[in-house]
Amino acid sequence: MSKNEMYDLIGIGVGPFNLGLAALMDDLPNITSVFFDKEDGFNWHPGMLIEQSDLQVPFIADLVTFADPTSQYSFLNYVHKQNRLFQFFFYRRFDIPRREYNLYARWVSEKLRNCRFQSEVISVSSNGDAYEVKVRHTDTKEVFTYLAKHIVVGTGSVPFIPDSIEKSEHVVHTSDYLRAAKDIKDSASVVVVGSGQSAAEVFYELLEDQKHHQYTLTWYTRSAIFSQLESAKMGQEVFSPDYVRYFHGLPYEKRKEALERLDSVRNGVDKETLIKIYDLLYNRSVEGRDSKIIIQPLTEVNTIKEEKGSLTVSCKQWEKEEEFTVHVDKVVLATGYKPHIPQWIWDKKDEIQWESEKEFKVDEKFRLVWKEERQHHMYISTNLEHSHGTAATNLSLAVMRNQTIINDVAGKEIYPIQKDAIFQQFMPNA
Ligand SMILES: Cc1cc2nc3c(=O)[nH]c(=O)nc-3n(C[C@H](O)[C@H](O)[C@H](O)COP(=O)(O)OP(=O)(O)OC[C@H]3O[C@@H](n4cnc5c(N)ncnc54)[C@H](O)[C@@H]3O)c2cc1C
Repeated sequence: MSKNEMYDLIGIGVGPFNLGLAALMDDLPNITSVFFDKEDGFNWHPGMLIEQSDLQVPFIADLVTFADPTSQYSFLNYVHKQNRLFQFFFYRRFDIPRREYNLYARWVSEKLRNCRFQSEVISVSSNGDAYEVKVRHTDTKEVFTYLAKHIVVGTGSVPFIPDSIEKSEHVVHTSDYLRAAKDIKDSASVVVVGSGQSAAEVFYELLEDQKHHQYTLTWYTRSAIFSQLESAKMGQEVFSPDYVRYFHGLPYEKRKEALERLDSVRNGVDKETLIKIYDLLYNRSVEGRDSKIIIQPLTEVNTIKEEKGSLTVSCKQWEKEEEFTVHVDKVVLATGYKPHIPQWIWDKKDEIQWESEKEFKVDEKFRLVWKEERQHHMYISTNLEHSHGTAATNLSLAVMRNQTIINDVAGKEIYPIQKDAIFQQFMPNA
C-alpha cells in the first residue's frame, strides 16, 4: 500500500501486545494494518533477559493461541520449526525461558509483513474522519505521513525511578541490568532495592555469581516481608476474560478497592525464584554465614547521591524509625515501571474523558473515551489497570484484548471470545 492510502488500523509500538495483534491480523483478507516500532527489531525487555529466568505465564499465553490455536504463529509451531519439539516435550514444563519467548516473538515479527521497525511515531492527529500518523525513520530521519481509520496505542511502559534518586552511571534500573552487569560485578559492593520479581531475579543472579567476584551484596526492600506471588489455581481465574468483564463493569472507586485487595496476585515473587534464592543461601552457609550478604526488609531507600564515584545511600528502617547511611559502589533499582503515554495523547487531554488525573476512561472494547463521540477509534493497551484490572499487563489476556479490537474494527466476530470459561462466577447469573 502507498503511504497516502488509508489503513484500517495503525499500531504504535511492537511489543508483545501489538505484535500479537499484528499476527492475528496477518491473514485477514479485508482489514489492512501496519505497525511501527522505533527499535531496530523486536527485543523484549532486553536488560532482563537473564539466563534461567522464566516467563511468568504458561507458554500457551503466546501471541495467538488463545484466539487461534491453529495459527502458524503459535509458540509450538516456533519450537517445531526450530527442531526443538522433542526437547520441549522432554522438558515437560509450561514455563519457558524468557530468552526463548523473546526469540519466538522476534521470529514472528520477522515473518509478518505488517511490522516496520526503525519507525518512531512522532505525532498522531485526527482530521475528523481518520488519523494522520507521522513516522520518523530513526536512521534516515525522514518523516512519512500515514492515514488510518483506527489507531492502537501499544507503547508499553518505561522504567520508574523516584525523583529523590540522583542520576548516576552507578545507579542502574533493572531494565538496564544486563548491559551494566559486568561493571556491577567488578565493583566492591552492590545494593539491590525492591522486592518484586525483577529485584529477586537480579539478586539471585548476583548471589550465584558472587563466588567468582569480590562484591558485598545487599538487598533492601521497603516491604515488611519478601512475599510470594499468589498462584493458587482458583485465584488465578481472575486472569480470565470473565473477570475482566466483571471488573470493567464496576464503578471506578470499587475497581480501585478491588485492585488493592488483589495485591497478592499482582505483587510479589514467584515461588520458584524464592526457593532458588533460599536454597542457594542455605548451601552457601554450610561452612558459616557469609558476611558479604545482607538481606533487610522494612527498609526504604530515600536518597542516593554520588560523590567521586562512590554512592551514599540514605535509608530508613521505617518500623523502628531508624535512619542510616551506607556507602556503596553500585545500586540496582528494581523500582518498577510506569505506563508510557505518548505526549501526543497528553496534548489531547481536554478532548478525553478522565476517571482521575492520570487515568483516562477506556470502554469495554479498549477504546479511549472522547468527550465528543467519534467513529474512528483509538484503542489502547497501556495504563489500563484502573479500567480492566490486574490482568491489564498480562500476556495471556493481551490476546483477548486483541480479539476484541479486531472484532470491533471488523464490525463482526472474527475471533469469538470465550465466555463462561472458568469455574467461578463473580455475581449471581453472570
Ligand atoms: C522485565 C519484565 C518481565 C515481564 N514478564 C512478564 C511475564 O512473564 N508474563 C506476563 O504476563 N507479563 C510480563 N510482563 C508484563 C508485560 O507483559 C510486559 O511489560 C510486555 O512487554 C508489555 O507489552 P507491550 O507490548 O505493552 O509493551 P512493551 O513490551 O513495553 O513494548 C512497547 C513498544 O513500543 C515501542 N514504542 C514506544 N513508543 C513508540 C513510538 N513513539 N513509536 C514507535 N514505537 C514506540 C517501544 O520501542 C516498544 O518496543 C513483564 C514486564 C517486565 C518489565
